[in-house]
Amino acid sequence: MRRVLISGGSRGIGRALVEYFRAQGDAVAFIYRQSDDAAAELSAKTGARAIRADVSDPDEARRAAGLAIETLGGVDVLVNNAGIAQIKLFTDVSDEEWRRMIDTNLSSAFYLSRAVAPDMISRKSGRIVNVGSMWGKVGASCEVHYSASKAGLRGLTMALAKELGPSGITVNCVEPGVIETDMNAALDEETRAALCDETPLCRMGAPEEVAAAVGFLSSEEAGFITGQILGVDGGYAI
Ligand code: NDP
Repeated sequence: MRRVLISGGSRGIGRALVEYFRAQGDAVAFIYRQSDDAAAELSAKTGARAIRADVSDPDEARRAAGLAIETLGGVDVLVNNAGIAQIKLFTDVSDEEWRRMIDTNLSSAFYLSRAVAPDMISRKSGRIVNVGSMWGKVGASCEVHYSASKAGLRGLTMALAKELGPSGITVNCVEPGVIETDMNAALDEETRAALCDETPLCRMGAPEEVAAAVGFLSSEEAGFITGQILGVDGGYAI
């Protein structure tokens, strides 16, 4: 049984991650920002511990990680999944929107990794998996702040893999393509069809398919894989 902490676990990919790890028999805590009902329902269904915190705030992230360590008795696997998206002309993105994007999607991974690393280092084992995006690889028009935040996760992944490797900790990143979650709920039919057309596998992905990739990178079998970026995008970003 591993002890797993997932950020952004109340909905979408994070929810699938909570269900995936619980199905493996792991002890799970997840962080969410505001969806109290969804979090309570998932917690009741799976037995995972729900922690309400805004991980874009360093103090909140530290508090949430501390609670998770206390509740689980430590953290063996950290999945930095919490994220937001916004479609906007880059010239219209305000300073506040830029900061919110970077803080939520990138800084939170730094805050939570920093909070759980000492425990992992002392045990000389651990897994950190960051949830990036294919837009961090290829860039998305009208998602400059989102793409930049996800590209930042690539650098964080590789640098942290080098720094934590000698301590027996692996750090990897999955980059989902277009996945059926609330994040894409606002896309109109035409846009969805166009995105599917541009995807070699001709469809959107399911949150469970991302969870399975994260699950593999968190497994014993993936013990010699670190600093890698794995696309789960139906071939979109080839
Ligand atoms: P959803 O919008 O469905 O869920 C986002 C989750 O993150 C929710 O649990 C939300 O909590 C949580 N969250 C957001 N901001 C914060 C915060 N400041 N503090 C704590 N929790 C927060 O997103 P997805 O499941 O679609 O996306 C999950 C990850 O996958 C994101 O990092 C996203 O960028 C990435 N991704 C998604 C793709 C897609 O097509 N869906 C494609 C590529 C990458 P709450 O419910 O309380 O709001």
